[in-house]
Amino acid sequence: MSIRVLFAANAQRWETYRTALPAAFERAGLDVDLFTETDRSDLVDYIVFAPNGTVSDFTPFTNAKAVLNLWAGVEQIVGNQTLTQPLCRMVDAGLEEGMIEWVTGHVLRHHLGMDAHIVNPGHEWRPVVPPLARNRTVAMLGLGALGRACARALVDLRFNVVGWSRTQKAIPGLTCLSGDDGLQTALSQAEIAVLLLPLTPATENLLDAARLALMPKGAVIINPGRGPLIDDDALIAALDGGHIAHATLDVFRTEPLPADHPFWAHPRVTVTPHIASETRADTASDVIAENIRRGEAGAPFRHLVDRTQGY
Ligand code: NDP
Repeated sequence: MSIRVLFAANAQRWETYRTALPAAFERAGLDVDLFTETDRSDLVDYIVFAPNGTVSDFTPFTNAKAVLNLWAGVEQIVGNQTLTQPLCRMVDAGLEEGMIEWVTGHVLRHHLGMDAHIVNPGHEWRPVVPPLARNRTVAMLGLGALGRACARALVDLRFNVVGWSRTQKAIPGLTCLSGDDGLQTALSQAEIAVLLLPLTPATENLLDAARLALMPKGAVIINPGRGPLIDDDALIAALDGGHIAHATLDVFRTEPLPADHPFWAHPRVTVTPHIASETRADTASDVIAENIRRGEAGAPFRHLVDRTQGY
C-alpha cells in the first residue's frame, strides 16, 4: 500500500512542492500518495507542515508517524498541545547555502564600510582603509546547522570568529563559548554580532539593554534568527545613543513589519523582509523523503526537535 503524505503548508508553497516532492520520493524509491486534503485524517502516515497552512489541530492524525516541518525554526509549532507525534525540523543544504550568502554579504558590507562609497553624493575622496578581516571580531550567537556553517564561511574569509551556543562546542578555526560568562565574553569583543539562535523562552530578549551595552561602541548587529531575540526598544535606544552603529534585521516580532514601526525609518537600521534564507523545494524535498524512508525502515528520524528545549 502507498505511504500517505498530507501536504499541510499553504497553497502558495504547494505550487513549488507539488512537483519537487514526488520527484524526491521517486529518487528515494518511495511509493507515496501525496495530497493536500483528506476526510480520513486517521489514515495519514506523515504530515509535511509549515505555519499558516491547513493544519493546526493534530489530534485527528491518530496514526501519523511524524510531522515534517519545512522551516528550520519551530517556535510556531513546538508548543502545540495537540502535537503528540515526533516533530522534525528542516536542515537542508539549500537553506544553509542561502544563509551563508546572506550573512557573509551583510558582514562584508559593514566590515568594508561599503555604504560610504555606495552613497556618496558629494563625490568626496574618502580613503579610509578597512582593517583586514583577521583584525575584525565577529560573534556568532548560535552554532547549530546555520550558525556553524556561517561561522566556518567567515573563518574562511579570515575573520576572527567567536561562537556561542547552549552546549559547549569545539569547532576548528573559531573560539567556542557557552553559558552566561561565555555570552558576556563574546559580546564584549563583538564588533559585529550575528544572531542565529532559535526563539525559545531562554532566548527571548537575549539582546537587552544590558547585553547591548557590553558590546564595543560602534558595533553592528545582524539578525537573521528571530525578531524577539532582541529587545526592540533597547536596540533603538542603543542606536539613537550611538553605542550601536547599525542593525541589519531580517526578522521581526510582527511580520510583515508594520508600516509605522520605527525600524523602517531609522537611518541606521536595514530591514530585509525575512528573506535571509528560504527553504528550497528541490533540496528540502530530499530531506523530507529521507525522513519518510527512515520512518518506514524503522530507523530514527533526522533533525528531531527536542520539545523540552524548544528547538
Ligand atoms: P539549530 O537548532 O541547528 O541551532 C541552534 C543553535 O542555537 C545551537 O547552536 C544551540 O545550541 C543554540 N541555542 C539554542 N538555545 C540557546 C540558548 N538558550 N543559549 C545559547 N545557545 C542556544 O538551528 P539552525 O542553525 O538550523 O537555525 C537557527 C535559527 O535560524 C532558526 O531557529 C530560525 O529561527 C532561524 N532561521 C532564519 C531564517 C531566515 O530566513 N531568516 C531561515 C532559517 C532559519 P546547542 O548547539 O548547544 O544546541
